[in-house]
Amino acid sequence: MSYHHAKGQSYPKVSDAVHSFAKFQMGIVLIRQHFLVSKRLIQHERNVVATRTAGRSGLGLGGCPRVGYFGAVGRVSGWRLSRVPGVRSSHDLTKRGSLSMSSCVALIVAAGSGERFGGEKPKQYLSLAGKPLLRHTIEAFLAHPAVTAVQVVYQPLHRDYYDQAVAGLGLPEPVPGGATRQDSGRLGLERLAEWPGGPPKTVLIHDAARPLVDAGTISRVLAALDHTPAAIAAVPVFDTLKRGEGGLAIGTVDRAGLWQAQTPQAFHFSTILEAHRRLAGAGLTDDASVAERAGLSVALVPGSPDNIKVTTPDDLARAHRLLGPTPTDSRTGLGFDVHRFAEGDQVTLCGVSIPHRHRLEGHSDADVALHALTDAILGAIGAGDIGSHFPPSEPRWRGADSTVFLRHAVELVRARGGVIGHVDVTLICERPKIGPHRAAMVARLADVLGIAEDRVSVKATTTERLGFTGREEGIAAQAVATVALPGSVW
Ligand SMILES: [Zn+2]
Repeated sequence: MSYHHAKGQSYPKVSDAVHSFAKFQMGIVLIRQHFLVSKRLIQHERNVVATRTAGRSGLGLGGCPRVGYFGAVGRVSGWRLSRVPGVRSSHDLTKRGSLSMSSCVALIVAAGSGERFGGEKPKQYLSLAGKPLLRHTIEAFLAHPAVTAVQVVYQPLHRDYYDQAVAGLGLPEPVPGGATRQDSGRLGLERLAEWPGGPPKTVLIHDAARPLVDAGTISRVLAALDHTPAAIAAVPVFDTLKRGEGGLAIGTVDRAGLWQAQTPQAFHFSTILEAHRRLAGAGLTDDASVAERAGLSVALVPGSPDNIKVTTPDDLARAHRLLGPTPTDSRTGLGFDVHRFAEGDQVTLCGVSIPHRHRLEGHSDADVALHALTDAILGAIGAGDIGSHFPPSEPRWRGADSTVFLRHAVELVRARGGVIGHVDVTLICERPKIGPHRAAMVARLADVLGIAEDRVSVKATTTERLGFTGREEGIAAQAVATVALPGSVW
């Protein structure tokens, strides 16, 4: 059989179980239960708490012939989906990975411990509208046309959180931060100085804890570099400022000429690197202070009042409100695939190689799980099926790594401004046993899909030795994917 079964083709030696599958595919309407909240409720929530509720669908396979092979599509509510506005793919990053003097790198400083926030998880990894705060920040820069690449400075103790937050973004290895904010900034710059292809011409230094930075602010600070070596986003102070002591006001501070500094802060790369090297250990709290101390003129560029720094739980709640309860068009897609066994010694399932007494036959690497999942994602966005994107007749797909197909489906979702909320894959076979490989499969899928591991499910079942999977003639896989697109179902 080709790497993907032809649609409508009947399977050889089909058992009753396979007929059940086919009937299911043709006849059962997938239960979609999304957006139970009304527009009115959404509008109400705009003023209370920005909650977008979307559905996750899971598909179960039961092994009892008397009641049919398929269980219901279940739903878990109360989690959040958000849109990824034009995130660049790791492919794009690789294409643009070689830096030149015309390039601009965003240096995201995420090395803080977030002590003021409290709690176990550092604040830069807390969830904001369904994804880690750091990921929002990174994606804002990846989506900006003037930014060539993103380099993160991080705290190595947070490595697991970091890996999950950046899965699928194709970022360069993060730089371990230093003891102070100033050290972390310098260490990040030193890494950029060593980049293959040469250091960038300009650098945007940004706090990971400002996830709501907008493209206009980034553009404005960069534009100012045409006239000055340093420029920072800032907003004028409008509130009356009081000096306090023991809970009492002891004076009013003249607010004339006062600005609140934000990030991004943009610099000519070699100039800020030199300033950082010269002033190492000065205990300065932002990079503009380093530039000022070095005698550079620093332009104040209008930032945005929404570009808040998430420092306390109240700030996080405010960030949720600012993101707004945009209605999201949630779709569910279903995929199914079968490959037969042939002589061999390993199979590839969910992108993971597993020693086995057979291989799976197919035009590509015959990763039946990835084919089902690719079809599920394509189905969710109404983009045809895997065979229409990668015709088995084309020799270039012979032996292909099926993650190529899955990445393509992910790209199509992103090109529509969408995000994959959740996937659920079920492998149907007697052997190989999936359990020992499940964690590796989940990790691999999360990486290829660019989503957190808790949004990925891999399950396995047998058909009680019935049918072709029961006779160990091949492996079947089914998958559901939930995708959110911009817009509304109303
Ligand atoms: Zn296939």
